[in-house]
Amino acid sequence: MAQIEPKPGIMEIALYEGGKATVEGVSNVVKLSSNENPYGPSPAAQEAVRRTVHELHRYPSTDHAALRQAIAEMHGLDAARIICGVGSDEVIHFLCQAYAGPGTEVIHTEHGFAMYRISTLAAGGTPVEVPERERVTDVDPILNACNENTRLVFIANPNNPTGTMIGLAEIERLAEGLPPQCLLVLDGAYAEYVEGYDGGARLVEMRDNVVMTRTFSKLYGLGGLRVGWGYAPKHVIDVLNRVRGPFNLSSTALAAAEAAVRDTAYVEKCRDDNTRLRAWLSEALAEHGVPCDTSTANFVLARFGSREEAEACDAYLQTQGLIVRRVAGYNLPNCLRITVGDEASCRRVAYCVGQFK
Ligand code: PMP
Repeated sequence: MAQIEPKPGIMEIALYEGGKATVEGVSNVVKLSSNENPYGPSPAAQEAVRRTVHELHRYPSTDHAALRQAIAEMHGLDAARIICGVGSDEVIHFLCQAYAGPGTEVIHTEHGFAMYRISTLAAGGTPVEVPERERVTDVDPILNACNENTRLVFIANPNNPTGTMIGLAEIERLAEGLPPQCLLVLDGAYAEYVEGYDGGARLVEMRDNVVMTRTFSKLYGLGGLRVGWGYAPKHVIDVLNRVRGPFNLSSTALAAAEAAVRDTAYVEKCRDDNTRLRAWLSEALAEHGVPCDTSTANFVLARFGSREEAEACDAYLQTQGLIVRRVAGYNLPNCLRITVGDEASCRRVAYCVGQFK
């Protein structure tokens, strides 16, 4: 029988190959490849999950009012400008579904998060990659890539996989210089790791063309429940709610996220531990001749001398029960991205990289 072809663009999407959590024949494996919180979610979030067992026969809230209110209170935001999704992946997807399509272009930076390209192609749009020359420091290459077909510009700040940040003044210059039909999306998946950084929320409030996305998968330790959110001008929220399924988030996910965002003591403890261990790990790796980019997030980008050396180290770490992330797909073939785990994991990584060298 003849195969029925999907619409143009779909077969350009590569199947996801990350996410592995085991190594055959190796025990005591630690996964440091997905930037998860090594301590798990707050005890309050775990308790909230248990409570929802009694209401699983009911459909969940459709307007996510309680979670949006909790996020608004804890971050000092307007609940009416918040939209919740199944991970920030889904918010990115909503943006592409609503604003991209055939004949439109969506810009992301060269080492930008894979979902921007996937969602753009799924919507029928054309992804446009702007070369970063290793690190984004100024936004001129992005502004130069814009034209009358550009609908969205995605920037992760802090960036994945480099961990680096663009200053807010530069981001403002970008928002100011975009063509009128284009939205700037600031992806703040790692914003919670940067003390005092609002992820771009104030900019969203000041402008009509800026959207911020956030997640519960990183600092809040809820990657398994899939909760993310967006903060946007009201006209954008109104559009995104039209492509959102009415019951997109489960009652368990909603309850856990609400408890997690209210547990500020736990958030601060996780952030402080990450800051301390990230500095320690970066220094230890540098001492072994593997320099890391200055990271502001919960991972470090370790730069090896060559692709071969990075691959050999990755293979060695696996034999030692350590799963890290190759980022060749991000066009950084000589690098490994390593999540900042708990203290024991960081020591294991440093020791094993030392043994490898
Ligand atoms: N943006 C960036 C930059 C990320 O690294 C990730 C997760 N790897 C996400 C968004 C998506 O996170 P989630 O869908 O789990 O909220």
